[in-house]
Amino acid sequence: MPANRMSVGIIGAGPGGLALGIFLKKAGFRDFTIFDREDGVGGTWRINTYPGLACDVKSHLYSYSFELKPDWSRLWSGQAEILDYFERCARRYELAPHLKLNTEIVSARWDAATTSWQLSTANGEQYSFDVVVSAVGLFTQPAMPNLVEQKPFTGTVMHTARWDHSVDLTDARVAVLGTGSTATQLVPEVAKVAKKVYSVQRSPTWILPKPDRQYTDREKWIFARVPFAKKIYRTRLWLRSESNISVIENGSDKTQEFKGIALRVLESTIPDEELRRKLTPDHPLGCKRLVFATDYLPTLTKPHVEVISSPAKYLRSRSLVTEDGTELDVDVVVCATGYAAADYLGQIDVIGEDGTSLRETWRDGAFAYLGMAVPGYPNFFMLYGPNTNVGSNSVIFMLEAQAHYIVRALKYMRRRRKSYVAVRPETMAQFIAKIDQWMTGTVWLTRCSNYFRAPNGRVVTQWPRSARAFWGMTRRFRAADYTFEPVDAVVEVVNR
Ligand SMILES: Cc1cc2nc3c(=O)[nH]c(=O)nc-3n(C[C@H](O)[C@H](O)[C@H](O)COP(=O)(O)OP(=O)(O)OC[C@H]3O[C@@H](n4cnc5c(N)ncnc54)[C@H](O)[C@@H]3O)c2cc1C
Repeated sequence: MPANRMSVGIIGAGPGGLALGIFLKKAGFRDFTIFDREDGVGGTWRINTYPGLACDVKSHLYSYSFELKPDWSRLWSGQAEILDYFERCARRYELAPHLKLNTEIVSARWDAATTSWQLSTANGEQYSFDVVVSAVGLFTQPAMPNLVEQKPFTGTVMHTARWDHSVDLTDARVAVLGTGSTATQLVPEVAKVAKKVYSVQRSPTWILPKPDRQYTDREKWIFARVPFAKKIYRTRLWLRSESNISVIENGSDKTQEFKGIALRVLESTIPDEELRRKLTPDHPLGCKRLVFATDYLPTLTKPHVEVISSPAKYLRSRSLVTEDGTELDVDVVVCATGYAAADYLGQIDVIGEDGTSLRETWRDGAFAYLGMAVPGYPNFFMLYGPNTNVGSNSVIFMLEAQAHYIVRALKYMRRRRKSYVAVRPETMAQFIAKIDQWMTGTVWLTRCSNYFRAPNGRVVTQWPRSARAFWGMTRRFRAADYTFEPVDAVVEVVNR
């Protein structure tokens, strides 16, 4: 590879892929392509369009640090405004010539002879790049519940990630499966139009208040006109998020404080004792992703809304049957059942050195150095990779830190005229040991089902420290952590 013409293939045009494209441009890398299987940029915020979708991180923090927006309409913006923001960023930084949309990457294969990656698309096209970065996100593979059709269901079943806007919910009987953030955003919206809503729950969730409101014209004026106002505001939001980091520690004061708030909200919103009992979780607060919602609990008290505390099991011609045998007459079943998050890169065949596949390397759960690099997979990086999902801060902050780190690695290679980079197995092993050590004592390891774990129980999605700690660890590209020529054999770094 001519060092001054390194080509980079990025898979995914969500907030992560876009940030990387922008940083590459700023660093003078001209030869890069961002692939996305969708017809536009924005990732999560383009794909998910279900009613009620909004951010649970305040908008001034859920935006790039280098592209602050003074006129966010409200504290926690909705999907359309967030999508518009990312589309504008792509335009502003002139990424269009680098985008290859409607193009799904199905495999990536390392070619040792040419020290390059061969990407194959679903249409059978082939592309070759010196470096490949996966920016496919954590939440792109919807997880469907295993519903057994006892008789062919004549209504509609859909996942929130594939919202079908042609389905009219007006006066319909709708079952919403799930109790995560998505369900809590969706149920109030569905209840506004549907005749009957069943909130079908495997287990209830701790609900924290979300005191959303619009920004006043005065606030927006200050953000736009007063020097540093929006920067200071964002920093305050960031610091406040950081101060909540102990919410990931099992039994910490912060978890107790938040649990107290959640219990008080339940008490004051749900007067019916039986319903309150159904809605009181038995898992420790924080072991699942925190849910912030203000309309959800009041909606569950409405006469046409019913909470069903048994998981959905069967479908019959026009009904849904739960595990305890309750039969619910429904027209539409909406699965707010989340994503196969722990199955990193499950839909792409990544073949590294010696023909080993990432699926095989990760058979006991995904791992990567700083969430970005895996031994045996040279010139391959990831954004939002294993153990980088932050517990109490903005994912955008983490994505920026990773994108900067990757650009630093590529700049190092450009400067030193290197055509090969792979993380050292021993670096990887030490990092995994640290992750395991930091994970000890977190609330995620308590007994509760969440999407954070690989089948063997290892927490593979979560970053067990603060956002500040991650930033500190990624501020510098330490060349000593990497090898710049192939090592004889990549030892098995995790064997668990
Ligand atoms: C409904 C929902 C709500 C969320 N709310 C919040 C929130 O409030 N706060 C928060 O911090 N985070 C939230 N998240 C997490 C959110 O995904 C991240 O904040 C952020 O979008 C991650 O950006 P990304 O670029 O890494 O991935 P994504 O936004 O997921 O983008 C990945 C892109 O990769 C593309 N892609 C995937 N596979 C392929 C392939 N094989 N070939 C080509 N293209 C491919 C996808 O089409 C997608 O465009 C939410 C996620 C979901 C699903």
